[in-house]
Amino acid sequence: MTAPDPASETDTTQAPQGPAVMSVEEARELVFARVRRLEAERVPILEALGRVLAEDLTSDTDVAPFDNSAMDGYAVHAEDTVGATPDAPVSLEVVRHIAAGDFWEGTLERGQAARIMTGAPVPVGADAVVMVEFTSPTLVDVGRQVSVMRDAPVGQHIRKRGEEVHAGDVVLAAGEVMTSAAVGLAGSTGHATVPVYRRPRVAIISTGSELVEIDQTPGPGKIRNSNSYSLAAQVIAAGGIPVRFGIVPDDEEATRQAFEEAAEGSDFIVTSGGVSVGDFDYVKPVLEEIGELAFCKVAMRPGNPQTLGSIHGTPFFGLPGNPTSTYVGFEIFVRPALRMMQGYSALERPHTRATLAHDVKKKQDRRYFLRARLERDPSGEFSVALSGSQSSALLTAAHKGNCFMVLPGGEGFFAKGTEVDCIRLDIEEGTPL
Ligand code: AMP
Ligand code: MG
Repeated sequence: MTAPDPASETDTTQAPQGPAVMSVEEARELVFARVRRLEAERVPILEALGRVLAEDLTSDTDVAPFDNSAMDGYAVHAEDTVGATPDAPVSLEVVRHIAAGDFWEGTLERGQAARIMTGAPVPVGADAVVMVEFTSPTLVDVGRQVSVMRDAPVGQHIRKRGEEVHAGDVVLAAGEVMTSAAVGLAGSTGHATVPVYRRPRVAIISTGSELVEIDQTPGPGKIRNSNSYSLAAQVIAAGGIPVRFGIVPDDEEATRQAFEEAAEGSDFIVTSGGVSVGDFDYVKPVLEEIGELAFCKVAMRPGNPQTLGSIHGTPFFGLPGNPTSTYVGFEIFVRPALRMMQGYSALERPHTRATLAHDVKKKQDRRYFLRARLERDPSGEFSVALSGSQSSALLTAAHKGNCFMVLPGGEGFFAKGTEVDCIRLDIEEGTPL
């Protein structure tokens, strides 16, 4: 275990017999220590969107592959147009009509012009393009004269060969996230498929004999297994592939079987419920029996019974069953781990300092992650208010909110106007604020 940090809010002296209570930071370090970056897989470029490139991509061609026109107009010798004005136009002979996709092997001589469309190759000899708007008449057939009314400096409206990238150059580097623009760059440089880090397959196990499937009407004493779906949604949002294992009743043997099966075919196991000190909470004993238990308590609220371990080398995170504890625990511990597995270097959600729009009381010494909404007030400053009831059994405040308002351990009262830290859930990791 990590040496106790004097600044940590963890107070192990109060519970000498019980399991060690981790600080959020210690717990996250232990989570990270159990995951590794997954191997790369080659996927069609569209499937790479938002994922991390595993290798440098070099271009198989110059982009653009040839000098081409940036405008619809006339390819000319710049020198022929010197001094041209509407009152003293220069007359040139139109010798060719070059559309996008055409290729003219001829050479443009002095005194000649080639009618040229955007994207069409600029012929040998030409060194400028005059926009059609500065010629008269605008549509001239081959063999006729066109009047140029403005002088065209050398290079005007010509996009140079290799302007974006040269053949053999690295166009996208390993570690970069594939944006929509990167998909375009890969597409233009000979990459129909690209190597990206694999998405983790995340087993989701809901424990609880009170649970019924979401398409059922719960009978007496039963509730719907909503965590399985909110967790699957969080896995998808984090880039993972959820594998829902359905409901596991509060039964030791059923729990063991589900854990063994999950460890077999997945890269990460997430469970909900069954990690407290209830009479039928089998997650911890089974984890200790067939795998390894690293910690089962974190000094936070909601959700102090956060449980980390591994089964046959597969990382395991046991989240508390209350829907908001599940939600917060996933966001704080599981999401960054899943990102690490996919090769992302940014693992932290952006933080924003904001002033409290109202007083907030805190009952416990642990760090609070309150569901809250951050807004800019009329003066442009951020203010933050709770987005609904903070009961960990209720999800509405999480839905209405856009951040976690973080209240440090230690203090019990935060007055309106106090500046607090907020974790932005509406912005991706790595976004500068
Ligand atoms: P537990 O952590 O198992 O003691 O569960 C804490 C609370 O969360 C209980 O009120 C459960 O009924 C509820 N709960 C547990 N699992 C789920 C689930 N999959 N979906 C919704 N609520 C759940
Ligand atoms: Mg339970």
